[in-house]
Amino acid sequence: MDTLVKKLNKLLPGIKFKSSDSFYWSPKNQTVFYINQDSERNQWSLLHEVSHAILGHTDYKSDFALLQLEVAAWEEAKKLSKKFNISIDEDHIQDCLDTYRDWLHQRSTCPTCSIVCLQNLPNEYNCHNCNTVWHVSSSRFCRPYRLRKMSGINKKSSGQTPQTTFALRTKKLS
Ligand SMILES: [Zn+2]
Ligand SMILES: [Zn+2]
Repeated sequence: MDTLVKKLNKLLPGIKFKSSDSFYWSPKNQTVFYINQDSERNQWSLLHEVSHAILGHTDYKSDFALLQLEVAAWEEAKKLSKKFNISIDEDHIQDCLDTYRDWLHQRSTCPTCSIVCLQNLPNEYNCHNCNTVWHVSSSRFCRPYRLRKMSGINKKSSGQTPQTTFALRTKKLS
């Protein structure tokens, strides 16, 4: 990991690297945070975060826009990986993007009538069908990728959605 970080640092002197307990890109601090633990997967994640930095990803107006930036960052990571003789598993990329797609779906589904809605503000969705307004936590680059489904484990039992806060605002009638 150290070797790859050093090489990337040389390639991108303007970007800081800091070891952390997860992988993410902080546009504000111009820093790539990474888990300093050697594995193929960690190398892929590092290249992905660095790609956000290279592409100058700073902010996004909606959750959907974030998903598009994720796709772009993986495209860039694939190009970058060739320079370092690393090959990124396409299934891994799709798993990561699926995590975002699921997350987006959860956030955009109306908690009252289950219709998928459009975001009207960075932290707010508004249902065009039943007028429910709900708030979501602000989005952030990079969510932990979804682990491959293992047989025998019921994914639904962990049916919590920590990224989404369904803070319902009921319309005041009085
Ligand atoms: Zn609704
Ligand atoms: Zn990302």
